[in-house]
Amino acid sequence: MIQQPRRGVCLVISAPSGAGKSTIANALRASEPSLKHSVSVTTRGPRPGEVEGVHYHFRDIEAFRTMAEAGELLEWAEVFGRGYGTPRAPVEEALEAGHDMVFDIDWQGHRQLRAALPADVVSLFVLPPSLEELERRLHKRASDDPAEIAKRMKAALDEISHWAEFDHTIINSDLDTAISQARSVLTAARLATRRQRNLSNIVAAFNKTA
Ligand code: 5GP
Repeated sequence: MIQQPRRGVCLVISAPSGAGKSTIANALRASEPSLKHSVSVTTRGPRPGEVEGVHYHFRDIEAFRTMAEAGELLEWAEVFGRGYGTPRAPVEEALEAGHDMVFDIDWQGHRQLRAALPADVVSLFVLPPSLEELERRLHKRASDDPAEIAKRMKAALDEISHWAEFDHTIINSDLDTAISQARSVLTAARLATRRQRNLSNIVAAFNKTA
């Protein structure tokens, strides 16, 4: 296999639900179609508009456990009482082929992914401007019922308590600013000297022509 100039970057984006991480991840991918989205496996059912294999791989608990036990998940966790996990093979293939990937996973997934791929992960935590604003955003979402919102507000505080484990943190008070800041994090990760395998050849060529 031809060695790519650099391995792909794993950009992990975590946040309490309603802080805007999916919107930010979608905007990054929209402006850069080669950026891959890690499609997770979940035991929850699809919401309206969600497509199998695009938003999630929807599986029953049996199939999920089988995948976890067979080592087919790079990380997995229980979130809101449901199983969520990252399929291993697509990530390993993408990274080796030099493709960057975005992960919309929770703090537990971030911890495990960082342990599994320490040199590849760069992580970003998205904070809402305030808890009141987060609650307002959750209410605006038609897809969640009030009991679910109350559960998610409690879960939000738990998720927020892990902010300090992340490499970068942004406060999403203005979406365009947050997207541009997320893009900057990805750009900086790509330019990390240790990630660029071709630099020594380039510099060696400089020395030959000098
Ligand atoms: P939702 O059900 O709203 O799509 O996602 C609920 C939560 O699960 C979100 O915080 C999301 O980031 C997280 N999540 C989604 N996929 C994964 C995954 O593969 N692993 C982990 N650890 N969390 C995930």
